[in-house]
Amino acid sequence: MQGSSENTNARATVAMDRSARLMQRAMHRLPGGVNSPVRAFRSVGGEPLFMRRGDGSRIFDADGNSYVDYVMSYGPLVLGHIHPDVVTALEEMVRSGTTFGAPTELEVEMAELVCEVVPSLEMVRMTNSGTEATMSAIRVARGYTGREAILKFDGNYHGHGDALLVSAGSGVATLGLPDSPGVTRGAAKDTAVLPYNDLDAVRELFEERGEEFAAVILEPVCGNMGCVPPAEGYLEGLREITRQYGTVLIFDEVMTGFRLAWGGAQERYGVVPDMTCLGKIIGGGLPVGAFGGRREIMEQVAPSGPIYQAGTLSGNPLAMAAGLATLRAAGEPGFYGRLEELGERWRRGMDEAASEGDLPYTINQVGSMVSIFFTEGPVTDFGSAASSDTKAFKDFFWHMLGHGIYLAPSQYEAGFISSVHSEADLEKTFEAARGWFATAPIGRG
Ligand SMILES: *Cc1c(COP(=O)(O)O)cnc(C)c1O
Repeated sequence: MQGSSENTNARATVAMDRSARLMQRAMHRLPGGVNSPVRAFRSVGGEPLFMRRGDGSRIFDADGNSYVDYVMSYGPLVLGHIHPDVVTALEEMVRSGTTFGAPTELEVEMAELVCEVVPSLEMVRMTNSGTEATMSAIRVARGYTGREAILKFDGNYHGHGDALLVSAGSGVATLGLPDSPGVTRGAAKDTAVLPYNDLDAVRELFEERGEEFAAVILEPVCGNMGCVPPAEGYLEGLREITRQYGTVLIFDEVMTGFRLAWGGAQERYGVVPDMTCLGKIIGGGLPVGAFGGRREIMEQVAPSGPIYQAGTLSGNPLAMAAGLATLRAAGEPGFYGRLEELGERWRRGMDEAASEGDLPYTINQVGSMVSIFFTEGPVTDFGSAASSDTKAFKDFFWHMLGHGIYLAPSQYEAGFISSVHSEADLEKTFEAARGWFATAPIGRG
């Protein structure tokens, strides 16, 4: 699908009049003009594009420019925009009602499907966001173990729950907030933080006080400091240590679930956690989250057990309908093979483009999650991700935007390829990148 006006020039020529006017209005009534920080373009020094519609791999802004979309709403749109199955499912559901505050068959179908597909899930509870899912999973792990401490990893983002908003990646890293005002010392004091991919550090901590830890929570493949895969043996090692100390291992698969494989990162790497958080893709573009795990743990959740968790709109029929339509399409034979191919193709194409320049770079790619960091690399944790030349990224971002490629406006966000990105979309991306790398951008920012 081609846009009504193709961008061929750099920053200055992207028509942004309507976006700029909308941003002026937005700034008066929305903090920073947005409803979620990374959307504000702060880390690339500019103002956001306001979007009007999407179609397949394309997104269209308020000024009528069209872009190949690698943001894909930060992960949910694995089928691209307005996939016909999702649109039909929503149209059918919306005529019957939008929420009932009573159980529906769709919720049972969703629960059955995710439990069948995701190895660690025997029971699940739906929520309205990934944030709620991780907050609730932590509560359940604490209630189940009777312990209070949790361990998370530097640069891993688990939503904005107080206890988890410590050394978080994503928007927090982008804004350079080590913590957030408003998170009490009480809420943060039970959260230990270690570097990602450092198993020895976890061993050491657990030898000292492993019995205090209710949970270890991590992104099994990170997407919130850019894409950073787990080191060989890292997930297995965490599995072993947590089992030894009776600590609940939680995979936050809000981003990776149904993206890196039908059964998520846990299927891809063959490591089964005690609990799993889901979100994004399972809502097919509507607000959603879910947490689940072993039956014995999940039966502690109200009303079957004493650990309270609730939600007026949890499991709401629109999110379930869009989510189920998405998961069914993703369950078609060859779906993940195609995403794999597209991801690898992206890595090769970008590598070729980048190798024509003089700038150090590192490409990380796992399936359809991709990142290019402007550093020698390897990028294995937040420290190495943060060594990226963010000035170069900024320049690269605006160049790509000017050539019709919409990347997340931060070095610390992964890019997402959908099942409907075409060879032509990729070629357009590589060509734009070649143009930037070829002009020796060192010192340009
Ligand atoms: C997006 C994300 C969350 C938060 O989900 P929201 O729906 O934005 O609250 C949590 N964990 C991970 C790994 C995520 O990528």
